[in-house]
Amino acid sequence: MELDERAEDLASDLGVDKEEVKADLQNLVEYSVPLDEATQSLRRKYGDGSSGGSVTPSSKDVGEVSPDDGNVTVTGVVLTAGKRSIRYQGDDHVIVEGRFADDTGAIDYTAWEDFGLEPGDTITAGNAGVREWDGQPELNLGESTSLSVAEDAPAIDDELRAEIGGEAQLAALETGDRARTVEVAVLECERRTIDGRDGETDILSGVFGDESGRLPFTNWDPAPEIENGDAVRIENAYVQEFRGVPEVNVSEFSQVSTLEREVDVGAETTTMAVGEAVDTGGIYDVELVGNVIAIRDGSGLIQRCPECYRVIQKGQCRTHGEVDGVDDLRVKAILDDGTGALTVVLDDELTQQVYGGTLEDALEAAREAMDQEVVADEIRDRVVGREYRVRGHLSVDEYGANLDAESFAESEHDPEERARDFLEDHDGLATTAEVSR
Ligand SMILES: [Zn+2]
Repeated sequence: MELDERAEDLASDLGVDKEEVKADLQNLVEYSVPLDEATQSLRRKYGDGSSGGSVTPSSKDVGEVSPDDGNVTVTGVVLTAGKRSIRYQGDDHVIVEGRFADDTGAIDYTAWEDFGLEPGDTITAGNAGVREWDGQPELNLGESTSLSVAEDAPAIDDELRAEIGGEAQLAALETGDRARTVEVAVLECERRTIDGRDGETDILSGVFGDESGRLPFTNWDPAPEIENGDAVRIENAYVQEFRGVPEVNVSEFSQVSTLEREVDVGAETTTMAVGEAVDTGGIYDVELVGNVIAIRDGSGLIQRCPECYRVIQKGQCRTHGEVDGVDDLRVKAILDDGTGALTVVLDDELTQQVYGGTLEDALEAAREAMDQEVVADEIRDRVVGREYRVRGHLSVDEYGANLDAESFAESEHDPEERARDFLEDHDGLATTAEVSR
């Protein structure tokens, strides 16, 4: 494997024991240090400042860089540059991340040294390492990389030029984005105390909105402007996935300032086909239209653990053992529009609406029938086969695609047309049986 070969090369270059080098490398890699950077760090540790006999890399177009390239020299424009702190082996390390482009394309980079990169700079990065991340090449600018101001600025296309500075609308943000600049309204904000890596610390979390949509955020170093609920401009935010949806992260390196203007939060939400929505891997605010083709087990009248609030079976919580369950209402409905299917989760309020009764009504019905399944059966009768317009937060993870509904309303589609669509989309009921298994 790669690590083994790397250890062998290093050991012979540096004249030290292979097993020792390998253990060191393994350790660094386990702390998510990229292999190239780990290698450089060990060269420093064992006292070899040079890049140890590696050949001078050839100049390449950004669009030509492949994960198989060891080292390259590239010339282009810095589109974004955002500082972020990471920790390995107990030490905080400030890195700079962003995107870099020439006239053939753009590439993500991580700088492990402070090169003073600024958006809009035209530079040549000599001997930049290439690593693979998520199947894509990325540049690693480390100790053995030389940076110089480039003479001839490549003519990057307008679309990439617009990326300089990282201005973005919330709807365009994706997990993995770095060094973004957004102008947002603070729609919800709460201060929480968490057990951070340096003990207890306060953070802010809530929801941002702009003309394009809404996204949840975490502010790791509470900014008064955000806590005040001002409309704010945030420079150098990054996007990370949290519970299956992208989340805006505002760190100690982000610049937060109050905006003079108002930010109109669009009431319009993105409407997507179910299959398309699932393919995005998670969206905070999305609207879908589809047919409810089944109600899943665990719907209707349910009991939750009083400790952890998870749904329990026969009075047993998987974590807390035998507990006195708390009654609640919930629906897990399978929504299908012919392009894909997902589970829509309705909370107690939305469940009361579709059930047409309160929790008390449900308990009474269950007592009368001596079976709490009658509640789920009633809901099934009311919703299966009908078309709904659903809005909420979609997460996609190992538990499947789940939409936490904020609204759930029958679609105003002509019933006959709806029935026809339903039959066309569903070859008999084969799809239903397959999905609900
Ligand atoms: Zn529990």
